[in-house]
Amino acid sequence: MGMLAASGPCTRPVLKERGQREVFCGLTGIVWLHRKLQDAFFLVVGSRTCAHLLQSAAGVMIFAEPRFATAVLEEKDLAGLADAHDELDGVVARLIERRPDVRLLFLVGSCPSEVIKLDLDKAAKRLDARWAPRGTRVLSWSGSGIETTFTQGEDNCLASLVPECPAAQGPGLLVAGALPDVVEDRLRDLLARLGIPPAFLPPRRSGDLPPIGPGTRVLLAQPFLSETAAALERRGARVLEAPFPFGAEGTTAWLHAAARAFGVEEMHFRAVVAPGRERAKRAIARHRPLLEGRRVFFLPDSQLEIPLARFLWEECGMVPVEVGTPWLHQRFHGPDLERLPPSARIAEGQDVDRQLDRLRADRPDLTVCGLGLANPLEAQGFTTKWSIELVFSPIHGFDQAGDLAELFARPLRRRALLASLAPGEPAACS
Ligand code: SF4
Repeated sequence: MGMLAASGPCTRPVLKERGQREVFCGLTGIVWLHRKLQDAFFLVVGSRTCAHLLQSAAGVMIFAEPRFATAVLEEKDLAGLADAHDELDGVVARLIERRPDVRLLFLVGSCPSEVIKLDLDKAAKRLDARWAPRGTRVLSWSGSGIETTFTQGEDNCLASLVPECPAAQGPGLLVAGALPDVVEDRLRDLLARLGIPPAFLPPRRSGDLPPIGPGTRVLLAQPFLSETAAALERRGARVLEAPFPFGAEGTTAWLHAAARAFGVEEMHFRAVVAPGRERAKRAIARHRPLLEGRRVFFLPDSQLEIPLARFLWEECGMVPVEVGTPWLHQRFHGPDLERLPPSARIAEGQDVDRQLDRLRADRPDLTVCGLGLANPLEAQGFTTKWSIELVFSPIHGFDQAGDLAELFARPLRRRALLASLAPGEPAACS
């Protein structure tokens, strides 16, 4: 059984870029976090722009009461004419009276709250002292789009939960990163069959925060959790370095890192993992004829780029031309990074015009990029995949491996179909 072994820092050259960026902000994370944490409310302290972003990204639920909202800072707040803290206290009081089911309230910072230096950590401590005795905890994190990318919202949210977790009394495994419930259940089952029943961060209910301590070993389920990893390590936990659990190989290697850390016998590991691994390989094989040999270019957006490029290269036969990521965390991305072919250009950060110049020169078959770039690129004849779709979709683990390959195959099929229907249409790039 082939494994992707974790190892030391990767020393391959990395193109560092700092220029104009085209990404969503961390508020986007509320879209999936509010579904995961089922008794939490996310109160963004921001502007009408923040409210519009949330409403259009998450949809406005008319009959269900949403568990997110925006406290809009008005001009007098921005000009420092009103005491924003008093107003915030009033908004929170009205919110909790109206929604007594909310057990955890997040005050979520934004660009405007950061610009006027509204201290939401201080506000959260003050409000927590008032409301925690009545059953609602109050914490804060920042979803600001200043120098960040959209998956950092989840990182900041989970990092804010870590100090609230109880102390662990002994060894245990923690899986960190918000996963769809169906994926979480499958990974829980697999790890339990290996004899390592895991806890998850975030939990589904805020009262079930996982215990953390020096015996805690952490598997990151998402590659964008550097702040959360640092917060966990401040509590004595140790993050296991492994490829991320995408596809048959990535999932096997990720599980194997936990098995090694907890001394699971190798034969038992192989017996437990083999059926899922074989299922995943068969599911990927169905898409391989369409993907094999196709050239893929990742523009930096979600921080999932390096593990996904590893999956496409090693398991689907695609050729990564450039893999751009907003941030490159050598420690966490290294095990996937070192598996990429030497020909793949690795870029950290964004300078969108220069990246688009390289993209036009490379003419890849598939471009994975943010929503804002996808339509103009499609109009220029490029075949694109929205990177945000890969964050919203269940893509982790053995049973999602076929769906993950399908997400990359679909735009290639669509482009081929369009080309066959309309001969005048720009053909798929090759
Ligand atoms: S947090 Fe900043 S980037 Fe995000 S919607 Fe609000 S103003 Fe825009």
